[in-house]
Amino acid sequence: MSTYRPLDATALTAHLATLPALSARLGGSPESWTAREVSDGNLNTVFIVSGPAGSLCCKQSLPYVRVDPGWAMPLERTLFEARWMQTLGAAVGHQIPALLHLDEGLFLIVMEDLSTHKVLRTALIEGDAPAGFSARIGEFVGHAGFATSWRARPFEDLFALREVFARNLSLTRITVDLVMTDPYRQGCARNRWLSPALDSDVAEIQSDSVLHAGVTRLQERFLGTTQALLHGDLHTGSVMVHNEDVRVIDGEFAIFGPLGFDLGMFIANLVMNGYALPDRESWMQDEISLLWSGFCNAYRQSWDGNTGCGDVGSLATPEETTHDQDRFFREVMRDCAGFAGLELIRRTMGFAQAADFAAAPDTAWEAEARRRALHTGRRLIVKSALIEDIEALLDAL
Ligand code: ADP
Ligand code: MG
Ligand code: MG
Ligand code: MG
Repeated sequence: MSTYRPLDATALTAHLATLPALSARLGGSPESWTAREVSDGNLNTVFIVSGPAGSLCCKQSLPYVRVDPGWAMPLERTLFEARWMQTLGAAVGHQIPALLHLDEGLFLIVMEDLSTHKVLRTALIEGDAPAGFSARIGEFVGHAGFATSWRARPFEDLFALREVFARNLSLTRITVDLVMTDPYRQGCARNRWLSPALDSDVAEIQSDSVLHAGVTRLQERFLGTTQALLHGDLHTGSVMVHNEDVRVIDGEFAIFGPLGFDLGMFIANLVMNGYALPDRESWMQDEISLLWSGFCNAYRQSWDGNTGCGDVGSLATPEETTHDQDRFFREVMRDCAGFAGLELIRRTMGFAQAADFAAAPDTAWEAEARRRALHTGRRLIVKSALIEDIEALLDAL
């Protein structure tokens, strides 16, 4: 284990040269390696190091938010990302990059390089995302979700895992504040919006007590539900695609919570892309349907094939299990609708906004797309208790 220091390209290459297994993957001598920075997220630095035999992706925490160095942030987040990869690796296979190395002193993870892939949000903006990717994301959430559920594992295992991820405090604080609190607070300095076009829409959101009651319910669901280990930041920038190969990256926000949080966040990011760009409505509906069916099929298959070491559902007959499954999917959909609503609002007027809006054909279109996102967000939150299947969700968009 090494002492923490932020590594630049030169220091990173020198550090890798001290690690035989990683050096062997790169091949040749360290002088022949190149390191290029590809950081484009809000929090961390990411380098791709290439050698004659192969390449590596290296991600390191900084003691602050990368895009806002005045905002101090504990380093531990890469450790949670590594724990997330270790916890889910067996259940999701190569749907996440392989973890090759963790240095808990440098807060550095080295993983499989996915440079042949493209970040999904970029592909969606540029219009070259392979159709149907959402089915793979649904399957990912289904497999990860079932594998960390009360039905799959005894409570002793899950209590221990929950204890690990319950220490992911600083990033959970970001979620609680940025996703489910700040946007609804008048005068919160971290909010920003297209002004004056959206001034009255924002004022409504910040003074609507029916909406605020819905947000409170979702805060309670997020913090009080331990359905499964969530990704916690499953937007379209946390997915990389290359033809049929769809990978989920950036699990540093992992925390136990309701599965509808991950699904709803992903759906909201599809919706914002669909609103921002012309002729995307039917595409958007298709992808959302595929996400949901991919999730339900994967989760149900794992459930049906479950060998039964979990402590929930062990009494159920096959017929009772079918009823239980229907009840479960209705509950996940209600959460999913509500959390999609939160994500639509926070990515439109909160601290970290969806880049998709800036790709709208003109400013009038962008303003309309943003307004729709705010209004759909409100509708989903307020009506989430009534949204229990995919048809009801699509109707609400
Ligand atoms: P942050 O936590 O700061 O958001 P990310 O994990 O999202 O960091 O990574 C930032 C960027 O680095 C991604 O958008 C992608 O371009 C690149 N990246 C991340 N992981 C990989 C990987 N395994 N292979 C190739 N590029 C990657
Ligand atoms: Mg990221
Ligand atoms: Mg590949
Ligand atoms: Mg991240």
